[in-house]
Amino acid sequence: MIYLFDIDGTLTPSRLRIDPEFEQFFLQWMKDREVIFVTGSDKEKTVEQVGEKIWTRASRVYQSCGNAVYQGGQLIQKNHFDLSPELKTLLNEFIMYSECPEQFDNHIEERIGLVNFSPIGRSCPQEAREQYYKWDTKAKERQTFCRMIEDKFPELEATVGGQISIDIYPKGQNKAQVLEDLYGPITFFGDKCQPGGNDYPIVESMCRQLEQNRRHCVLHEVKSYHDTWNILKEYK
Ligand SMILES: [Mg+2]
Repeated sequence: MIYLFDIDGTLTPSRLRIDPEFEQFFLQWMKDREVIFVTGSDKEKTVEQVGEKIWTRASRVYQSCGNAVYQGGQLIQKNHFDLSPELKTLLNEFIMYSECPEQFDNHIEERIGLVNFSPIGRSCPQEAREQYYKWDTKAKERQTFCRMIEDKFPELEATVGGQISIDIYPKGQNKAQVLEDLYGPITFFGDKCQPGGNDYPIVESMCRQLEQNRRHCVLHEVKSYHDTWNILKEYK
């Protein structure tokens, strides 16, 4: 059985470091199990969040929604995606017209195989990050931006990830692409499993494979790492 985990919001609080007690538990839990990660973040952020030990103990890590693949600490595969001037213009318009209460720097980040865009800016302090998330849950600004990007650039896909940003990449190069790479039964844990969330493509694809009897799949939609922790305790 492959145990596939999202990271942000599933193994850690959003953008924060893993809980030290859960880290110890999880390191133990990983022993003799095939554990694989799939996240929208890049390697540096993930290592910062889960720590070097957990990151290297995983059988494989799919960073940037599967657009950068690491095994044994080495980058073994990557996809290319360049931010076009047209997309950059649209994102700059979003920054200008965003109705979010406060804005900070670092809105556009080019990662391997994807562009991460944050209307509030990734340099925001933790408190502003949480306020934005609360505000956006009602305002649904990020969902609107995702729809606008996909309307204007049908060759692209945009999904809401984490608390303050969206991920943009060529159509189909979402988290679901990792399933093509993995064989056998999969148990997946994710927190953004609803339509528009960055775990949704993987969930949708797994449900299809399950219906067609192509793969045995187990899905766990969690609200936080506490949920994940409770479920994992049952596997002991
Ligand atoms: Mg997540």
